[in-house]
Amino acid sequence: MIDTLQQAKSFIQKYNTHQPVNIMEVCGTHTMAISRHGLRQLLPPNINLISGPGCPVCVTSAYDIDWILEIIKNHELKLFSFGDMIRVPGTESSLLEQKSQGKDITICYSPTDALNYAVKNPHKKVLFVAIGFETTTPLSSVVIKRAAEYDLNNFFIFSTHKLVPPALKLLVEDKQLNINGFLCPGHVSAIIGSEPYNFIPENYGIPCVISGFEPADIMISIAMILRQLKFNQPETQIQYKSVVKPEGNLVAVKNIYDVFLKADSRWRGLGPIAGSGLELKPDYNRFDAKLNFPVKDIMPKQNPACDCGNVLKGLKKPPECKLFAKLCTPQNPVGPCMVSSEGSCAAYYRYERFNLERT
Ligand code: SF4
Ligand code: SF4
Repeated sequence: MIDTLQQAKSFIQKYNTHQPVNIMEVCGTHTMAISRHGLRQLLPPNINLISGPGCPVCVTSAYDIDWILEIIKNHELKLFSFGDMIRVPGTESSLLEQKSQGKDITICYSPTDALNYAVKNPHKKVLFVAIGFETTTPLSSVVIKRAAEYDLNNFFIFSTHKLVPPALKLLVEDKQLNINGFLCPGHVSAIIGSEPYNFIPENYGIPCVISGFEPADIMISIAMILRQLKFNQPETQIQYKSVVKPEGNLVAVKNIYDVFLKADSRWRGLGPIAGSGLELKPDYNRFDAKLNFPVKDIMPKQNPACDCGNVLKGLKKPPECKLFAKLCTPQNPVGPCMVSSEGSCAAYYRYERFNLERT
């Protein structure tokens, strides 16, 4: 690994041309690792790392948050959610604010906590906010299958599950962006494999490398992208071979599509993307919170000064937002990119705030 890393470093340094190279790291954990280990500062100035929409919390739309807030306003139920999600601002409130005002909201680490509660408390309606990309969806599927086996009638999920490849398609087709390479997410790819990214090198000539999360993994992956660019041989490569297989995890993928169907989904900052979400199949309608707790006329509004949309598309870096580190901080997040521990604004705030001259 040390030899490979040395070769990667010297290859990257030789790429010090005046030609700008924009590499998008899709995944929030890559963003965090890049900021934490100061990798941006190790690259020649023409190589520009930009953060993508790779954190499920950041891309949850205000529309979905507002819908969930409406449900808990109008129905007696207990809501389970992962921790970061409860801090995401909707139009007028957040789940955290509702919890502090007495709503029955519990932070959980697994959907099975919500399921177990529903089994033990048959007279209480239980709502689980299901969030995440291909990585977390298989667990939601297992929980829904169990809920069906137990014949529960008090358990519901609100699916905000999303698929990564359709969002990448939107980004490569966006004329404002000029992405020359993708560092593809490690955990998502452990489930879906490398094949779903092939349309990017094949149709758009853009290299893709599925990277691990250690600093050395990321540096080697950047060198792999640069090498593909240099020799004009775009393809999907796997750097994170210890975890990611080309075919992915077939059992996990089957689990997802046993229970979910592809559907359109709203992404914060990117808008609606066809076929980028997952909703329950009709067989599981009785667990679907959207069908069981419909709402009318949701008109979400965001702070007009919040630049999360541009940050999520890679059009702006977090410090270019007027609110960054002023009105918007991790203690008082205005937008979701500052909320999530994987969000790019949170990463810049934590690790790169004092080094802004290079950002
Ligand atoms: S779940 Fe994993 S792959 Fe997805 S954004 Fe988080 S760290 Fe990246
Ligand atoms: S600093 Fe805050 S308001 Fe600005 S883009 Fe980031 S999260 Fe949004």
